[in-house]
Amino acid sequence: FKAQQSSSFEIPDVSWDDIGGYDDVKAALERTLHIMNMSRALPDEDQHLRAELTPRGFVFYGPPGTGKTLFAKAVANKFNATIQIVSGPEVTNKFVGEGERRIRELFAEARRNAPSVIVFDEFDSIAARRGSGDDGGSRAGNAMVAQILTEMDGFRPDVQMLVIGTTNRLELIDSALLRPSRFASFPIDLPDEYARRDIIRVHARRYRIPVDGFAEALVRATVDWNGDEIRALFRDAFVAAKYEGRPPTPTQLGELVGRHQISRKREHVGRGR
Ligand code: ATP
Repeated sequence: FKAQQSSSFEIPDVSWDDIGGYDDVKAALERTLHIMNMSRALPDEDQHLRAELTPRGFVFYGPPGTGKTLFAKAVANKFNATIQIVSGPEVTNKFVGEGERRIRELFAEARRNAPSVIVFDEFDSIAARRGSGDDGGSRAGNAMVAQILTEMDGFRPDVQMLVIGTTNRLELIDSALLRPSRFASFPIDLPDEYARRDIIRVHARRYRIPVDGFAEALVRATVDWNGDEIRALFRDAFVAAKYEGRPPTPTQLGELVGRHQISRKREHVGRGR
């Protein structure tokens, strides 16, 4: 199964415009990336300040399906960088010592492919707070945090690298990693009304399903949905229309929204909410 591998060492084809909403996050990231570029061109007498000016990584945190990985890809694109996406549990589910080795290898590969971005999905599984328990798992976690810190503190000024972690649980992340010179954290919450409108625009365009005159009803019907659920709605409409050999209609989108609402309710009941 090579899906993870195939995303390696390519510059992702995702731009800000593919991400609906979250203008504040985009602006904050733009600013940080700009300062990073600027700090590279500092005169010699200011070079010693460099490490303090910009973080070496970002943590995107928030509920599932809100576009955290999508943001990581767009950052890599802005940075003109290749990307390696690694799942946290893939690194932690190894024998003692192997996780650290895997991290060393990842950073070495990233150095060879610079400019580059390493993305740790489910970062909390690797970067859990040190000393947060005394089981073997957390001891291994400690060593991996230490390894990541060593790697990041050793970033050479001439090699452009960035580490991005995504997580649903920021509170689990070791605070040593969240120092401003290491990871800057950005919240990516459920989309608000404005963001939903924009996400609907993005996916209506991707799937070439016109929503004119129907967009506002969709915005109202998708309160509390995440971006991934909105994408799934358009995908389902696209597939149904292809299967039935006719263009997608607003009525059919409406039916799909209704069906999705019902299955969400069921899930929430199932989870005791
Ligand atoms: P998880 O926490 O479950 O890993 P995530 O926050 O990383 O989720 P992504 O994997 O980035 O979520 O999002 C999944 C898909 O949902 C994206 O590929 C995209 O199609 C869609 N999506 C999510 N948020 C947005 C958004 N703001 N704009 C457009 N599409 C979005």
